[in-house]
Amino acid sequence: MGKASRRWALRAAACVAVAAMLPGAAFAFTCDGSERTIEISAGQNVGGGEPGYEALDLHAREVVLTFDDGPDAETTPRILDMLREACVRAAFFVLGGQAEEHPNLLKRELAEGHTVGGHTMSHADLSEETFAAATRDILEGFVPVEAVGADASLFRFPHLASTPELLAWLNARGMAAVGADIDPRDWSGDPPDQTLKRLTDQLMARGGGIILLHDNQPNTVKLLPGLLAFLDREGYAVVRLAGAPAQRQLASGKPR
Ligand SMILES: [Zn+2]
Repeated sequence: MGKASRRWALRAAACVAVAAMLPGAAFAFTCDGSERTIEISAGQNVGGGEPGYEALDLHAREVVLTFDDGPDAETTPRILDMLREACVRAAFFVLGGQAEEHPNLLKRELAEGHTVGGHTMSHADLSEETFAAATRDILEGFVPVEAVGADASLFRFPHLASTPELLAWLNARGMAAVGADIDPRDWSGDPPDQTLKRLTDQLMARGGGIILLHDNQPNTVKLLPGLLAFLDREGYAVVRLAGAPAQRQLASGKPR
């Protein structure tokens, strides 16, 4: 290596080191917390286009990142590191058992500005359960979410399988369901680049939307850098979702 190219290599390494230290330095995403936040009202189910859901009010080239089925001790911290680095806030729909096991990861998600919502205890297809079992499952899944102080008014149905009765029940209790517009099936075991291609193809066809990912999937850890780079390069903004304060009865039965 010649002197000039060695100097260039040193400078490039220094840039990478600086970028690694400064959150967001490697990306153009807003890093001062001023990114757009959409508040979901109680009773307003968004995304996906199933009956009972309406489109989320996104502009062109806006996405929402959502991660289901965590928190996981191995993969979730790595995903949180990457989101922090990029200054991107996501919504995590957590499983009750995982949340009970890893309250510190839930606390970290909240502390870093992410939204935490419920996703049941059992991950069963609630449309196949009795109404009583399904509602119990939803409420039990919220207990560890509320225990760490999350707002807990947003819910995602496992397998995106809702019923009109369950939607009406959720909404009557001041909760809202979040569907998904873009589902790259990151749990399928396909190579990360193949899954990322599926995701970006769907995204370019739609121009934006709610993206469904899973923070318990090692392949999702691998595809996330490519997704963040794609969003940054193509000028997408990542919008935060938040639940609107609601008069919801807590899973514990206490008013909040
Ligand atoms: Zn799930």
